[in-house]
Amino acid sequence: MAQVTPNDIDAARERIAGKIERTPTVISQSLSDRLGVPVHLKLEHRQITGSFKLRGASNAVASLNTEQKARGVVAASTGNHGRALAHAAKLEGMRAVICMSRLVPGNKLDEIRRLGAEILIVGNSQDDAQQEVERLVAQEGLVMLPPFDHPAIIAGQGTLGLEMLEQVPDAALVLVPLSGGGLATGIAAAVKGVSPRTKVIGVSMARGAAMKASLDAGRPILVEELPTLADSLGGGIGLDNQLTFAMCRDLLDDVILLGEDEIAAGIRHAYAQEREIVEGAGAVGIAALLAGKVNAKGPVVVLLSGRNIDMGLHRTIVCGEALATSERAA
Ligand SMILES: *Cc1c(COP(=O)(O)O)cnc(C)c1O
Repeated sequence: MAQVTPNDIDAARERIAGKIERTPTVISQSLSDRLGVPVHLKLEHRQITGSFKLRGASNAVASLNTEQKARGVVAASTGNHGRALAHAAKLEGMRAVICMSRLVPGNKLDEIRRLGAEILIVGNSQDDAQQEVERLVAQEGLVMLPPFDHPAIIAGQGTLGLEMLEQVPDAALVLVPLSGGGLATGIAAAVKGVSPRTKVIGVSMARGAAMKASLDAGRPILVEELPTLADSLGGGIGLDNQLTFAMCRDLLDDVILLGEDEIAAGIRHAYAQEREIVEGAGAVGIAALLAGKVNAKGPVVVLLSGRNIDMGLHRTIVCGEALATSERAA
């Protein structure tokens, strides 16, 4: 089976240079103290559009030929891919149609609409949204750019792996949020191409972890999609998954699952200790460290993948600890 290679990721990096930010990596003193090894945070939630998804979307759009660009692009998205694709398509002056399920929060819709993309809301799951995408490809000739299972998307996300190793050359372990696996497989391919002994571990929410369930089953399987604080990690991996299932199986060293309270603690820590606003999906790496679910023997790089959280929800989560603390003190 064809897999994405380090050469593909180098090519992606050249293609998207100037279209994305090279985000900083900073040391976390509090997490380093807690773990007893240096813990670095890759601040990719500060990427343009608020998530790393702009890397894959920019690479995929830039890889299209003139005739495909004239037809426009379509995708199913839990929000951040749609937002990134809308931004990337707008830069190219292209039409973009984004299909998504009813579970996607409203703040994500508004932003995509603002970027000039057309939005279609269909069904209660990513799989329903995906069927609408296939209809538009067949009936209107749009080019499908899926959120994760596509070589140009994976290669674009992989550029993060190159940056992380340049910023922390002695990284022993990289923690990556995991849903469909475009992010984790791109990073793993890049990281292991440069530093084969560096471990790459995926982190998902326990509620509806489709890739973990599929890896355990030995084949892509369907998992019920449930509401979670890590809403950007929701959705299936596709029963006809082409690339990311096999790449996760071959390249990831482990997958960690987290409860909702643990994810909330990650968001709170990011805010109170690191002064960073991250969404649930972006906080799972920190959450895994706080939950004591990671055994690190050397420098750790934690990817903060996105910041597109409803600010009312963020306030509730952050104030939750203030309440709990004052209750304890009382
Ligand atoms: C999409 C997304 C992920 C997961 O990426 P996959 O390639 O689907 O595994 C993680 N964090 C954020 C913020 C995302 O938007």
